[in-house]
Formats: sequence, structure tokens, C-alpha cells
Amino acid sequence: MSEYPRVILTPQRDVSVRRRHPWLFSGAIKRVEGAPPPGALVAVYSFEGTFLAWGHYSAASQIRARLFAWDERDAPETAEFWRGRLERAIAARQPLLADGTTTACRLVNAESDGIPGLVVDRYGNVAVVQYLSAGADARRELFNALLVELLHPTTLYERSDVDVREKERLDPREGLLYGTEPPETVEILENGLHFGVDVRHGHKTGFYLDQRDNRALLRAAVAQRSAVTPLNAPTVLNVFAYTGGFAVYALAGGASAVTNVDTSAEALRLGRENLAHNSFAEANVEDIEGDAFAILRELHTQKRTFDAVILDPPKFAFTQGDVKRAARGYKDINMQALRLLNPGGLLFTFSCSGAISADLFQKIVFGAALDVKRDVQIIGRMTQSSDHPVALTFPEGEYLKGLVCRVVR
Ligand code: SAH
Repeated sequence: MSEYPRVILTPQRDVSVRRRHPWLFSGAIKRVEGAPPPGALVAVYSFEGTFLAWGHYSAASQIRARLFAWDERDAPETAEFWRGRLERAIAARQPLLADGTTTACRLVNAESDGIPGLVVDRYGNVAVVQYLSAGADARRELFNALLVELLHPTTLYERSDVDVREKERLDPREGLLYGTEPPETVEILENGLHFGVDVRHGHKTGFYLDQRDNRALLRAAVAQRSAVTPLNAPTVLNVFAYTGGFAVYALAGGASAVTNVDTSAEALRLGRENLAHNSFAEANVEDIEGDAFAILRELHTQKRTFDAVILDPPKFAFTQGDVKRAARGYKDINMQALRLLNPGGLLFTFSCSGAISADLFQKIVFGAALDVKRDVQIIGRMTQSSDHPVALTFPEGEYLKGLVCRVVR
């Protein structure tokens, strides 16, 4: 018998917990014994009284508890327990960082690393954390101390300024947690390329680390094509460019020209700095500040064409209810992008909306190709980088999907 508050499930609603899914929804709960405060440790029992899991309680959220241990003998409130989980997650990323050509990655990917609600990204000696759930937030002092002990960062910075905290009734939080204030831009290396990251104001924790492997794939594809036609190296259109990650990789692959499109002038400005960091200051790069939906049309009117287009839009669908509207948005930009591609050209197209499945996304791109009458092949499939693992028990952890398409004609 546990001394902790107990969550008793409704009869026959214990399947997902037994399958070790980390999210326990309110609808599966029969009753709660004791009065667990936000984030409290709770023991989950079947209706018949069998211990099933340990979790962190969240009274405010539909995800009423986040489960992380399925053995009653675990002692999940000890520092030892969480140090073990953190060590395991951090160690898993060491191969990625080993040769020194990459100095930034996600170290802790929340549920998929067995630490619900905690994200930790590393940018050189700067570590950035996000506390996304009541359970993780309630243990912030412990996690902060363990991260300092395990990572010896010069800076531990918080970027819990995300909407999901509202669902847990947590206010946004950001700021310095330990060490010295981060520099305006933190210098990192990614696959041997240099980037400056603004961990205070940048998107997410500063950089789209989840696209690292896909940026490398683009570089390889551009390099292959440049090798075949060195005098006619590919031209690249980088839509939703942010700080020009894909642009730098395209130039590293030998692209002859890059056009970046983004609504954020600040992101494009940092993109310029990133070009300079990699001695591409003189490269043939054009930045267009504005709305991609309009600019893609304008480029078509101007009869511009490209050998590769990257479409990496922000999340269009936040809930199931958004899917229809989002699908129209994805279809539109994919149609516009396909019209701009030369025969043989490549489309790197993404969706980071968890609510849009890979299958649906492929259908959307298919619909787009059909409507603009282009013959299109899939030559590759992409997902989030390996430091953003997806626990098999938690398919919801997979949000980023992408297709490498080749326009036949
Ligand atoms: N590909 C980037 C990440 C893109 S994130 C990388 O690898 O780093 C999405 C970007 O889309 C953001 O920079 C955001 O400013 C931009 N954005 C959002 N809505 C837009 C719109 N309607 N038109 C153009 N850019 C937009």
C-alpha cells in the first residue's frame, strides 16, 4: 500500500496504462484518494486494486497524470531516481557530440526520455530548459541542481514561455537559473557549420534542432547535384527560413544561389550573420521579408524557378479541430512551391503539426501536385533528428514529418 495519493481507474480503462503510455486522461479515472496538489506524486491503481504506475498529478489538465515508472518498487521521489534518468538521456546524446563537429542538441526529450514535461537543449556550454508540466515544474529546483551537477554549464537558462503551460495552469517563465547571463548569440557548431543562437528570444529554445538531420540531407542532395553539373549548381528557395539553417547547408553543398523567405526581419538578420560565420557573406543570397503565401505567388508571377524548394512552415494545426483548415494551408503552399520547381527539382516539404499524420500529409502533397499538374515522386522521408527520440510507448512524440519529392516534369 502506498503512502502517496492514489488514482483509481475506471473498470476496463487501464489498457493504455498497462501499455505504458505516459499520459493518463481524466476520462479513465474513477476516483482520486487523497488530495494531491499540482505536480504531486501519485500511485495509479486498476479498479481491481492492482498497482499500475507512478505519475505526476495535474488537476487542471485533461492529461490528469503523466506516468513515468511502472514498478511499484521504484522510489521515484529520490534525487537518485531522477539523476539516473537524466544521466541515461544525456549519455544517449554523447555519440552525436563526440567528434566535436556538433555542439548543440536536445539532451532531454520529455516523455520519450522518461522525464515527462522536461526538455533540455544544449548550445555549447549553455543549457536551456523548459518545464512543460505541473510535475516537472514542481521539481524544478531538483532538476536545476541535477543539470548543473551533470552538465557543468556556464549558463542554465529557462524558456518555459510556451502555451502548453496554460493547460497545466502554469504561468510562462523565463530567465537565468544558474551561472552567467547568456551572450546575445551563443555560438554553436552543427555538422561543422557555424550558427549563432539567441536563446533569450529565439523560437523554441533558440534553434530548430529537430531539423539538423534534414538540413544535412539537403546539403548532401545539393552536393550530389552540384557534382553532376558544376557549372549549373542548384538554386534554392528556402521558405520559412528562420535564421537560415537550410540556407547555410545549401551553400555548403555548393548551391549557386539561395532565396530566403520569412516574416521575421530579426530572423533574417541573424541569418545574414550565419552566412558570415561560414564565410558565405559574399554568396548569392537574397532575403525576402514577408508572408510566404503571397511571396510564393509573386515569385510565380515573376516566372522565377528553382532547383530545390524547402517548405518548413510553423505549426498550422494545434488541435484535431484545426486539421481541415491546416490541410488547406499545407496544400496551398505545396501547390505554389511545386509550380516554382524546374523539372528534376527537389521539394523538401514539412509539417510539424502533430495532428497531421504522415499519411495525411502525403495525401495533401499528392493533392497539391495533382492540382498544379506536376508529376512528383517521393525519394525520401524525413522525421525529427535522432536527439528527439520517440518512445515506442508514446507515438504522440513524433510530430515532424517531411517528404523529399522530385518533380519529374
Ligand atoms: N527552417 C527553419 C525553421 C523554420 S520555423 C530552420 O531550419 O531553422 C518557421 C518560420 O516561419 C519562422 O521563422 C517564422 O518566422 C516563419 N513564418 C511564420 N509564418 C510565416 C509566413 N506566413 N510567411 C513567412 N514566414 C513565416
